[in-house]
Amino acid sequence: MSEKHEGFMKALKCRECGREYPLAATHVCEFDFGPLEVAYDYDRIKKSMTKAAIHSRAQSMWRYRELLPVANDPTVGLQVGFTPLVKADRLAKKLGIRELWIKNDTVNYPTLSFKDRVVSVALSRALELGFETVACASTGNLANSVAANAASAGLKAYVFIPSDLEQGKIVNSLVYGANVITIKGHYDEVNRLCAEIAGKFGWAFVNVNMRPYYSEGSKSMAYEIIEQSGWRIPQHTVVPMASGSLLTKIQKGYQEFVKLGLVAEAEYSIHGAQATGCSPISVAQKAGLDFFKPVKPNTIAKSLAIGTPADGFYALRVMKETGGAADDVTDDEIREGIRLLAECEGIFAETAGGVTVGVAKKLIASGKIPANDSAVLCITGNGLKTLDAVVGHVGKTREIKPSLREFEAMLASEEKVNA
Ligand SMILES: *Cc1c(COP(=O)(O)O)cnc(C)c1O
Ligand SMILES: [Zn+2]
Repeated sequence: MSEKHEGFMKALKCRECGREYPLAATHVCEFDFGPLEVAYDYDRIKKSMTKAAIHSRAQSMWRYRELLPVANDPTVGLQVGFTPLVKADRLAKKLGIRELWIKNDTVNYPTLSFKDRVVSVALSRALELGFETVACASTGNLANSVAANAASAGLKAYVFIPSDLEQGKIVNSLVYGANVITIKGHYDEVNRLCAEIAGKFGWAFVNVNMRPYYSEGSKSMAYEIIEQSGWRIPQHTVVPMASGSLLTKIQKGYQEFVKLGLVAEAEYSIHGAQATGCSPISVAQKAGLDFFKPVKPNTIAKSLAIGTPADGFYALRVMKETGGAADDVTDDEIREGIRLLAECEGIFAETAGGVTVGVAKKLIASGKIPANDSAVLCITGNGLKTLDAVVGHVGKTREIKPSLREFEAMLASEEKVNA
């Protein structure tokens, strides 16, 4: 039997017991139910992925393709990633920190959230494995991204979401012609149903049976942050947490670049952000616990509303290992965070972005992120998709007749009020 060509991947490997599995559409260890993760041939990657090689490639997440789990060249989402890393001086001043950067995935291609990174990988791999139908359990952004990328790849798509999602998120899935199934329940119930469906139908559920590949896409955000920071690991990275996967993959990405000699080893901390209305991971972190207690979500940050976070345990471990902290913010603080980022930097983020800004503010105020340090905030989704959350909280329009006199009178009366 000839060895199958699997690119730079070696196997799927259980995170608990280390047992290895073939690179198929499977996600749990048969022995201890531990999650499976892609293992790579780093010796070969080191020869192939030099800084010069990276620089010579197109500006997308695929410039790091050796560290992304596809056997051949990617086929879906070739333009995804390489979003701007923005120096945020005005917001830095407001939050009281020396230096601040925004990793701006509100403008990720094509569906304006970081989920295009994970979906690009999952669908490229799904095609390699011969699937014709893709699916997902989603809090909104993932459904948008699966729907759009499946459309462009000519794949059939089923997306499952809680029925109480924002209009923007629902329309942004329907428009691509995907089958959108709304479930009367929280995400955790949607996810449980999808696990059953995935076992029965031969579909590629990007975050169920394809999860080992899908989740690796998040690492690209870490690689880009390092390259765009001038090949350095930032002292502090603040990451929003739903399942906790993105946070763990930022750590994996930083560590891989250290291992490959692409960046110098450095002291750094990775911090986690949640909404108070769904904060199982941050509550556990603040109490110094290694395990979280599941909760029933109630927050405007619906994209982060996962009450039983699949990677919560591992996210807690990463924060502990890196000296990071977690915190959470209320709905009002989320809106304030959205406004701060918009008014200071001209970036309109969705509720998850408000969570990240609000938590960064708290961590800086408490000294957990020292005021003299430098931090990167991962802003993961676009505000145009969660208008419902801010309508009525962003100031008011003023209406006048099309008359210069009326405009001048309006300004004069406002000056009087402001005087
Ligand atoms: C999915 C999502 C996250 C983080 O999700 P994890 O499950 O923790 O990886 C963060 N922000 C937005 C906007 C998301 O849609
Ligand atoms: Zn195992």
